[in-house]
Amino acid sequence: MAGRVKSAIKRGRATVETAIEHGRATVETAIVHGRATVETALHHGRATVEEAFHHGRATVETALEHGRATMRAAILHGREDIRIERVPVPRAEVGELIVRVGAALTCGTDLKVFRRGYHARMIVPPALFGHELAGTVVEAGEGVTRFAPEHRVVALNSAPCGRCYFCLRDQENLCDDLLFNNGAYAEFIRIPARIVAKNTLRVPDHVPLEHAALTEPLACAVHGFEDSNPRKGDIVAVIGGGPLGLMILHVAALAGYETIAIVKHDGQMEAARQLGATHLVQSSSIRKAIRDTRALTPNERGVDVAIEAVGVPEAWQEAVEMVRKGGTVNFFGGCAVNTSVLLDTNRIHYSDITLRATFHHTPAICRKALDLIASGRFQAGAFITGHAHLYELNRVFEKLMNRSSEIKTAIVP
Ligand SMILES: [Zn+2]
Ligand SMILES: [Zn+2]
Repeated sequence: MAGRVKSAIKRGRATVETAIEHGRATVETAIVHGRATVETALHHGRATVEEAFHHGRATVETALEHGRATMRAAILHGREDIRIERVPVPRAEVGELIVRVGAALTCGTDLKVFRRGYHARMIVPPALFGHELAGTVVEAGEGVTRFAPEHRVVALNSAPCGRCYFCLRDQENLCDDLLFNNGAYAEFIRIPARIVAKNTLRVPDHVPLEHAALTEPLACAVHGFEDSNPRKGDIVAVIGGGPLGLMILHVAALAGYETIAIVKHDGQMEAARQLGATHLVQSSSIRKAIRDTRALTPNERGVDVAIEAVGVPEAWQEAVEMVRKGGTVNFFGGCAVNTSVLLDTNRIHYSDITLRATFHHTPAICRKALDLIASGRFQAGAFITGHAHLYELNRVFEKLMNRSSEIKTAIVP
């Protein structure tokens, strides 16, 4: 662009329209100087909506109206292969929402999918990726009555059908037709009608979106904890210092239980302490972890409840061996397919041990999880240990694979 127009704009003497008319201004310049509206730019055929968005001056509505909107989104192509690509911004069909992602959180499940390149039930590449998010509604489809543009929401990653055998027995987490949604690592995400109707929640104004995005994993943690049926006065041991292990531990501590955190790394020790663990056991070996945990209980009788949140068969066995007679074990961590465990049948039978496992969440528990976050008692900030731009997603996952001390990274598009 000619220097003259540039200086004219700077001095406030030239309008961008003039500049554009004279072919001397680029839309970027105009937008940077705050003088062009997206409408003007589009009208002159010189601006792409991308540029407008990039400069933070375009509303999605404008872009959608002009049918020109594309967005940046992470596409999973296979094993350890995420590419940030430009794809059309989705439009809301009947009952759907389009949400501008405020924050998307990394999750152990995503890490597993990144490593393997697919998830049999949830994601088959090439596909949009990521499932823990909160954001702002930009478009509400026909028939949506509970939400409107500008509403801050957390949209869960799944919704049950409400009709099958399991749904009708209040076991919606086991729904035969659980509908999953992915695509949180993007600027916008489409929320399917069923999730809008059953599992999308308004986020109170005082709750940061990145905290609200913890609703999904926290719902899993609350579910696992409640399913373990702890009784007042129980000692609850949680095996594993990953995000879910730490969340279950924190939930138990907030509920007033004496807790034992069994973790591996120094960073996890620190986090567990901060999140309210009564006792800490740093396990160098499984044998030693069992001994050390029992030593913390009266007469070394064992803990009342042991929740396994690692997801390896050895830890499942460990959990069984650290509970007291009549205690409860929850196999919360999902192990790899085709793995199995050997359990001491005598111990389970003669010690009257309850074995159970908990998977996923239900809409009612998601509501509870968001309420807990909004209460301010839950230390949401402690779970988000890093921030990164969408472009850095590959690097973030590579780092997570190397067992860094990060708990969750908030991906901000
Ligand atoms: Zn998750
Ligand atoms: Zn169902």
